[in-house]
Amino acid sequence: MFSFLIRGAQVIDGSKREPFRGDIAVENGLITEVSPSIKDGGKTVIEADGLVAAPGFIDIHSHTDLTIFKHPLAESKALQGVTTEVIGNCGIGAFPLIQEQKSVLIDYLKMHDFHLPSDGLSWNNFTQYADQLDRIGLGLNLAPLVAHGALRIAILGAEDRVPSDRELKKMKALLKESLEQGAWGLSTGLIYPPGSFAKTEELVDLAKIAADYGALYTSHIRGEGTTLMEALDEAIQIGKKSGVRVEVSHLKAMGRDNWGRGKEALLKLEKARQSGVDIAADQYPYNATSTSLTALVPSWAHAGGVSELLRRLASPETAERLRTEILLEMNKRGGPGRIVIAEIGSEKNVGLSGKNIGQIGELWQCAPERTVMRLLFEEKAAVGAVYFSLSEEDVAAILSSDQVSVGSDGTGMKAEDDFGKSTHPRSYGTFARILGVYAREKGTLPLAKAIHKMTGLVASRLGLKNRGFIKPGYTADLVLFDPLTIQDRSTFDHPHQYAMGVVYTWVNGCPVVQEGIITGNTPGRVLRKRTVSSHS
Ligand SMILES: [Zn+2]
Repeated sequence: MFSFLIRGAQVIDGSKREPFRGDIAVENGLITEVSPSIKDGGKTVIEADGLVAAPGFIDIHSHTDLTIFKHPLAESKALQGVTTEVIGNCGIGAFPLIQEQKSVLIDYLKMHDFHLPSDGLSWNNFTQYADQLDRIGLGLNLAPLVAHGALRIAILGAEDRVPSDRELKKMKALLKESLEQGAWGLSTGLIYPPGSFAKTEELVDLAKIAADYGALYTSHIRGEGTTLMEALDEAIQIGKKSGVRVEVSHLKAMGRDNWGRGKEALLKLEKARQSGVDIAADQYPYNATSTSLTALVPSWAHAGGVSELLRRLASPETAERLRTEILLEMNKRGGPGRIVIAEIGSEKNVGLSGKNIGQIGELWQCAPERTVMRLLFEEKAAVGAVYFSLSEEDVAAILSSDQVSVGSDGTGMKAEDDFGKSTHPRSYGTFARILGVYAREKGTLPLAKAIHKMTGLVASRLGLKNRGFIKPGYTADLVLFDPLTIQDRSTFDHPHQYAMGVVYTWVNGCPVVQEGIITGNTPGRVLRKRTVSSHS
């Protein structure tokens, strides 16, 4: 097994403790000793003079659920020192799957630019999905959440209504089953249908189950712009009424009118914590968001699923109302010039990737809102977009909070394969950017605190035992990086560029990055939460 000694590193242990110079011994995948000087005892020695040794980074907000089948080494993450990704976020996930609703789930995943594995979705529940992932051989660990969207689709399809008592019971049972099988929590995406169809009561009922299992509730809340405060109030209510630990996903203040409200949002969370709600947030360090182009479409137009949305886009009865509402939402998010098309599937339109809605409108001689509708119609609603709608001041203010973890909101990618496609740089740069830009260049975030936001804090939020800290007995998920050179290189114009400065990444004690190069090793696995309901 893997036994080695890291010698003379600046150790940052995942708590907020100051760095100290020391050695770290690893045996059989576990950290066995951490101290100023350890005898090598015949072990391989890695000289780490001038390098920082930290716990492997835990990406609390990832969407690698299906891309992992294509890129099982998750290169863009490994080269940033990420050793575990929390997947199934924003209510979007690949289980539970009920065969009768399979096509609805597939439409839903495609709408979010999730690419299906070559043999489709060949599982029904958490265990089968996790087993399938373990079989392909993973470069890093995955900690899946139960996605509320998938859960709702399993019972209600794409219907826009309140579940009956019987249906709610079924949803709860499915959630329970997933948590018992080892899922780490429940996620919601309340701007995306079918999550947007759910009333607060439904979410409280489900969150109670998560609370019973000591699991986390993560939420892409119901509004991140004008209605940010109301949306935070809903998340707080869910925490208060259910007793669940709440994680507000990718906290931000979207749209020029809301710039400056980041601090107000933090204050609201702080007040809620003081009143006894265990609520925190995560964030990616960029001033642009990225999601489906359908985020511009009002919720009512999604009822019944993608086929119904396409019908409404084309029907004269609904097209007019859609035009007005899409234009309104587009302007809230910064206007057509600030919305850039990323992922696009069809051969015909692939050249539009990287262009903004205004530019495409000019090309098509078409008003911006009609351009959006035509794009959605031609691509069957599967269009990814980047929205330049945040302010750097808010990003920095939110980052400074001790309660905010780092999460990429991206996926594990491979530059060599994905080259040429437009995407958000966060998949390649999030963690390196925090360390290179905020900790080093700007100096606004002390290194130990930055690391804590990616490791110890996340492990605590998640209830992840034995990871997230450098301590004897803990699993050897570790990263060794150069604090003077670590840097993101991925940009909006040229996203498929790996971060630099990570020398080693070890997953479960095995190197997945060695001397800055991907080794091809697959020591990762799906982490399964050992859990007992407090009611059983
Ligand atoms: Zn989200």
